[in-house]
Amino acid sequence: MEHNFQNTLNYAQQLDEQDELKAYRHKFHHPVINGKETVYFTGNSLGLQPKTTADYVKIELDDWAKWGVEGHFHGTNPWMPYHHELLPKIAKIVGAKTHEVTIMNSLTVNLHLLMVSFYRPTKERYKIIMEGAAFCSDHYAMQSQVQHHGYSADDAIIYLEPREGEHTLRTEDILKTIEENGEELAMVMIGGVNYYTGQLFDMKTITEKAHEVGAIAGFDLAHAVGNAELHLHYWKVDFATWCSYKYLNSSPGGVSGIYIHEHHVHNTEIPRFAGWWGYEQETRFQMKREFKPSLSADAWQLSNVPVLLLAAHNASLDIFDEVGIPALRKKSDLLTAYLEFLIEDVNERCENSPLEIITPRNPEDRAAQISILTDERGKSIFDALTAANIIVDWREPNVIRMAPVPLYNSFEDVFKFAQVLEAVLVV
Ligand SMILES: *Cc1c(COP(=O)(O)O)cnc(C)c1O
Repeated sequence: MEHNFQNTLNYAQQLDEQDELKAYRHKFHHPVINGKETVYFTGNSLGLQPKTTADYVKIELDDWAKWGVEGHFHGTNPWMPYHHELLPKIAKIVGAKTHEVTIMNSLTVNLHLLMVSFYRPTKERYKIIMEGAAFCSDHYAMQSQVQHHGYSADDAIIYLEPREGEHTLRTEDILKTIEENGEELAMVMIGGVNYYTGQLFDMKTITEKAHEVGAIAGFDLAHAVGNAELHLHYWKVDFATWCSYKYLNSSPGGVSGIYIHEHHVHNTEIPRFAGWWGYEQETRFQMKREFKPSLSADAWQLSNVPVLLLAAHNASLDIFDEVGIPALRKKSDLLTAYLEFLIEDVNERCENSPLEIITPRNPEDRAAQISILTDERGKSIFDALTAANIIVDWREPNVIRMAPVPLYNSFEDVFKFAQVLEAVLVV
């Protein structure tokens, strides 16, 4: 889409005026540093707190005080089935059926639990394809999984790397790597959105190709959930997991979610680690010795769920439910595009054009993130941003990563960022 963007405060404010989601900015607590509200661009690390979160958590604290253990069955939101209230909302966000999702543990734990079920290597077929530039925890999880099964990471893990001189992966190269390793490939396990570059992957096409060669397709959606449009069921993704504390604003260390395609959910042969919370709910408290799984992704739950974290999660999910991902994505595209325009505008007026956007330039290949590679001036840009109360993320060697989050960031926020860039770089 062609925009007629302008690098002026007036224009940024005009975009804010026309923003259908502008009221949501005020539904979040924005951190205040040195008495001044910050411009917060790190919602991809820890999302802001909705103003309703405290009330949701307070209800459960009060019920705990009032009911003690009876809160599991009485109380405002009985805790035993509490997470079931959240599942339709999370299913909508990831594009799944309600019985394909559940909420449990944290992300890396869930990666391991899902690989118990979906990484079933054989002598012929034991390799995993992942991003060379994956988030570190995913590297550790994959390495320890292949080692657990008696393989070496050097042999069993195939890393996807960008072409020389490029920063992101080409879908054609991902597909080619899958094809080339077809016979030996057990699993493709990549992020939905890469945490560093912000590249949004074509999960549908990757899943199709993985299936074509007889491999499983799993995704780590830490940076995709609540950010990009997802249709996991329709794409026939085998499994996925995500955390709730980034774009989903559900508290630091908040509870994670998983998705398992229904044909695996219904497969009685599938191996999984089990615990009592995965037991069929109606008869769970008979506490029988033999395990009878829930007929849903709940079967993968091990322990009773952390209710206070679920309450925080629920507060945020209600906001997402109200707004819906399509509306969010519509604003997100415009906000990210405006940020991109402003960065380019500053860069062009600046000696040696020191800024390179390493996030894909095609809006369909990215979501609410822009990563900029700079030169040695990077650190002074970062320091000037910090001094101006603008919070972004710094990654060595010279990358500034920022998330313009459509729920609570404004076009004026983005403009303020560009003003600092301009002050440092344009003399
Ligand atoms: C944030 C993130 C994690 C964090 O893992 P936790 O288990 O929640 O601490 C893991 N993987 C990716 C891709 C992430 O972006």
